Amino acid sequence: MIDLLIVGAGSTGSVIANRASEDPNRRVLLLEAGPDYDPLNQTPFDLINSHNNSYKQHDWSLRYSPTHGRDIPFPRGRVTGGSSAVNTSIALRGMPEDYDEWASLGNPLWSWDQVLPAFNRLERDLDYGGKDYHGDAGPILIRRYPHSELLPQHQAFLDAAEGLGYPNCPDANDPLSYGAGPQPMIKLGRLRISCAIGYLAPARLRPNLTIRANTLVRRLIIDKRKCVGVEVEIAEGKTEVISAKTIVLSAGAIMSPAIMMRSGLGPRKQLEKHGITVLEDIPGVGQNLSDHPAILLLQKPSRRSTLILH
Ligand SMILES: Cc1cc2nc3c(=O)[nH]c(=O)nc-3n(C[C@H](O)[C@H](O)[C@H](O)COP(=O)(O)OP(=O)(O)OC[C@H]3O[C@@H](n4cnc5c(N)ncnc54)[C@H](O)[C@@H]3O)c2cc1C
Repeated sequence: MIDLLIVGAGSTGSVIANRASEDPNRRVLLLEAGPDYDPLNQTPFDLINSHNNSYKQHDWSLRYSPTHGRDIPFPRGRVTGGSSAVNTSIALRGMPEDYDEWASLGNPLWSWDQVLPAFNRLERDLDYGGKDYHGDAGPILIRRYPHSELLPQHQAFLDAAEGLGYPNCPDANDPLSYGAGPQPMIKLGRLRISCAIGYLAPARLRPNLTIRANTLVRRLIIDKRKCVGVEVEIAEGKTEVISAKTIVLSAGAIMSPAIMMRSGLGPRKQLEKHGITVLEDIPGVGQNLSDHPAILLLQKPSRRSTLILH
């Protein structure tokens, strides 16, 4: 019998698979809908190349409508490493006061003091690893572009920020910092250090960890209010049930609620609309997503030469 079954080998699932399989007596099964690449030299270039996001080859092709009449892509990684394998590689921590606010709302384990050791443990900060608010021995490498690697446009931006009175911010993950400076990045040269590379690669050799790729989980099997297994697709129209003692659902902010709703856990009205038998009417499932809202400023240069990269 499998001890721990993890649904989704993304950022979260890869970390859990690694940490849970440290105990050789625990049998861990990691299920992933997308492909798995091992070793690194067989990993396709779109996943290696941190200079661009991978939007097509390893994506779920989801779309959404943020406002009426506008339908835009909602990229999500479909591969071991999940969205960490296709993303922009920015390694920016949240603001300490935001974590403390979550703690004050009733989540004491989310205070800044509680999460800082986890941030330190995950990283090997190549620039500031010696600081007490950084780590120097974790699986995820972090560095910032030094001045010598900045393009003239980047340098001009930083000069303009300084001219406007913004302080220089060499390390945006310093909890007291603010101002303008380089982003901390999860990349080494061009290589994107995804959670597949940082967390799954070192755990692969463990005989108690099985990674099963190209395996889509349809729904959770619930027995007397307890999740006892999952139903997976093995071929067109064919399914298989896999049982386990404990199941972790880590299929991401979009797919985890979708799997729950297909399993009969979610808002009654919505489930009934799709002919799904309601096991638990849970109104919050699949609602109120807010995904890093951002403002993008585009500027049209007055002189074409401004765009020439060196
Ligand atoms: C294009 C892009 C750029 C981003 N840039 C940044 C950035 O620069 N910095 C940053 O901090 N964050 C960034 N993010 C966000 C960050 O990558 C995600 O927040 C993070 O990876 C989410 O982790 P997760 O484990 O929740 O989900 P994911 O990493 O998405 O993992 C979910 C996994 O579950 C699998 N899965 C889903 N459904 C099923 C199913 N039914 N059966 C089996 N497997 C399933 C998926 O294939 C995937 O591998 C970006 C995301 C994207 C898509």
